[in-house]
Order: sequence, then C-alpha cells, then structure tokens
Amino acid sequence: LFITVEGMDGSGKTTQIELMSSYLKDKGYEVVLTREPGGTIIGEKIRNIILDPHNSGMCDAAEMLLYASARAQLVREVIKPSVDSGKIVICDRFADSSYVYQGFGRGIDFKAIEDANRAALDGVSPDITIFLDIRPELALGRRLAATGADRIENEKIEFHLRVYSGYKKLASLYCDRIKAVDSSRSIEDIAQDIRVLLDGLLL
Ligand code: C5P
Ligand code: MG
Repeated sequence: LFITVEGMDGSGKTTQIELMSSYLKDKGYEVVLTREPGGTIIGEKIRNIILDPHNSGMCDAAEMLLYASARAQLVREVIKPSVDSGKIVICDRFADSSYVYQGFGRGIDFKAIEDANRAALDGVSPDITIFLDIRPELALGRRLAATGADRIENEKIEFHLRVYSGYKKLASLYCDRIKAVDSSRSIEDIAQDIRVLLDGLLL
C-alpha cells in the first residue's frame, strides 16, 4: 500500500504522518515513512540544493527536474521495494507537489512536468493521497513561527495562493484518490478523519 500526504508548508503533514504511522503499526502493519524531496542519501543531497536560500538563481526548469530526480531515486530505492514486500509506505509529498508548486506555482507547462514524472515514477502511483487542506495564510504563519524559511517558503504570498488553488483543483479532479481533510482544526480532529480514511482503505 502506498499512501502520500500533501498540503501547504505548515499544514501539519509531519505531525499527522507520525500519528498515522503509530496507528497502523498498532494494527500490526509494517510501515515505512519517507519524504520528498529526500528519503534517500542522493535525494537528501538534491533536497539541500533545492532548498538552500543561497540558490536564489535556480531557474524553474532546473528546480522541476531536480524534484523529479529525487523522486526517481526514491521510487526505485525505497517505495517500490517496500510496497513489493508488503509494507505500507507513507510519503510526505509526492508527484502532486510538482503539479502544484512547479505547475500552478511557477507556471511550468504541465506537459513537461508529466513527461519528467513519467520517467521518475516507473509506473508507481499512490493508492490514496491525504490532502491536509488549510489556507496558506494560516499554514505559513504556523510554519514560520516554528523554524526559519527555506527557499520556497520565502516566496511571496501570491505564489502560495496559486499553490493552494492548485491543490484544490487537483483534489476535485482526482477526488477518487485525493481525500481532502479540513486541517484548520485540532490535531486530534484531523487525525480522527484520517483514521476513518485509513480504515476504509484497509478493509
Ligand atoms: O514539506 P517540506 O517542507 O519538507 O518540503 C520542502 C519544500 O519544498 C517546501 O518548501 C515545499 O514547498 C517545497 N516543494 C516544492 N515542490 C515540490 C515539493 C516540495 O516547491 N514538488
Ligand atoms: Mg516545509
């Protein structure tokens, strides 16, 4: 089983992923947690290049292809082998992030993102995607209060609003796969909705 979690920076992905993981482990499943960009030694190096605030000169195409590179490595090194051996993989962000950040956010042609992803994904796609739905004004505030901003979080609010509208659009287009959870609520309320979704998946 392959589960991905998506949402704005500060939407609470990390917290909810930890809760999902313990819920599933308590039920006896073997769970592998990973993240994007990153999750492999090569992927974490790519992540550092992408997020380094000093790399403000990075062009949009290079950024999009770097995310795809990290994804290609993660699919082959972690996701495929783990799913094939019967584990549940939970990934913090996946290909949807590229459509919303590089597509809706940066304005890169969707066809180009699709082509790069075809090479990266090797046929893998999530069984379910949990979208932690919270407006960027609220989410970013939380996030920046907790730690400093990375290169993407430094973008102006208009960028984050385009990203958010991209998420909403994908969630309505692919409503069979992408499940939106209102994440302006308490950690426990959000976790409860996610547990219901997981139970539905594990039937
Ligand atoms: O979720 P996390 O904060 O670990 O993601 C790292 C950063 O990369 C975030 O600022 C996120 O907005 C950005 N990102 C992106 N495009 C992607 C994936 C992540 O801009 N495809
Ligand atoms: Mg972040």
